[in-house]
Amino acid sequence: MKGFTIGSPSIADGEPKIFIGEKIIMRITEVRTELLRLPLPRPMQAASSSGKKGGPVSKINMPVVFITTEDGTTGVGYSWSLLGGDTATRCILQDDFAPLLIDEDALDHERLWHKLYRRMQTGGRRGLVTQAQAAVDLAMWDIKGKIAGLPVYKLLGGRRESAPVYYSDGGWLYMSVSEMVAAFEEYLAQGMFGVKMKIGHPDYRTDIQRVREVRKALGDKAWIAVDANQKWDFPTAVRVGRELEQLGIAWFEEPLLCEDIPGHARLAAELDIPIAMGETLGSRFEFAAYLRADAADILQPDIIRVGGITEMVKVVTMADVANLPVEPHHMMESTIHVACGVMESGAIEYMPWVAGAFAEPAEIKNGHMIPPQKPGLGLEIPEEIIRRFRVG
Ligand code: MG
Repeated sequence: MKGFTIGSPSIADGEPKIFIGEKIIMRITEVRTELLRLPLPRPMQAASSSGKKGGPVSKINMPVVFITTEDGTTGVGYSWSLLGGDTATRCILQDDFAPLLIDEDALDHERLWHKLYRRMQTGGRRGLVTQAQAAVDLAMWDIKGKIAGLPVYKLLGGRRESAPVYYSDGGWLYMSVSEMVAAFEEYLAQGMFGVKMKIGHPDYRTDIQRVREVRKALGDKAWIAVDANQKWDFPTAVRVGRELEQLGIAWFEEPLLCEDIPGHARLAAELDIPIAMGETLGSRFEFAAYLRADAADILQPDIIRVGGITEMVKVVTMADVANLPVEPHHMMESTIHVACGVMESGAIEYMPWVAGAFAEPAEIKNGHMIPPQKPGLGLEIPEEIIRRFRVG
């Protein structure tokens, strides 16, 4: 009966129970969900995201799933949302996904991804269902890494040992230019290679003036990207884009509504500044539509919104084939595993929104993030944190 054996350090009796080529499974025995609400390190406000009265948002929702296997290994996965959908995401995890996962083989991440996708296809394919699916997928990879005794980025391929980081939590719409510049300088001094600021005020000329002042303060050589969060119509986006080109801006992120693929294609053809987008797209299929239309110059998948590591790896491969850069969106603590596991280049967006949930902070040295070296994702959420931030 012996096939090729993979060591299983977490099995107490020392007898490996996982074999390739045989149906011996790492059975899922328990799925537990939690919903946390964490204070943002710095309130956020963007063109597409603001509080009830248009002001800053100060909290982030973090649905969490713990999946335990028969040998006692527990994998942790999570999702995130800012403006709602948190309890619904948790319900999907608890009511729809948990029954589908019990007694399944925790090692079959690809098969289980498709099982969940098919089961919820008519209500899902993007949005909350996909984001709940991402939490499950992260937990699957965490289990796989813990059983293999390897960090996930090594399991994925170990393409590189660190990724450069740009600072993205200091350029919100409510901040003054001097506040932004102070935040930017603090993080540039730590070695981060650049900064990103929000644009998308009611009058676009306000934005251009703010970008001009930030450029002047940081100097001609500073790497600055801007993000409009889908604010404009096509003529305005052309006007803004041309101004940004004059200011030497690295990329123009989400200029138009994310559904407008033809508009993005026209804009990408019209402007010299690279058009970056992808943070709202829900799967490889939605990225494929953009790629077929030549509608983006830089792809920005969000590991949660595309459905987890399993799906993000596919998006990265598609970008490779199209010869387009990938600059992942947010969730740096889990994204670092994909960024280092399969990506040769591309930066991490420094946005410590869920950093407060984890036992250990992300390791950043000289402006580069280093993936956790522990088996799995290396992202433990202490019970004390759960008690403190639990809602619902
Ligand atoms: Mg963005």
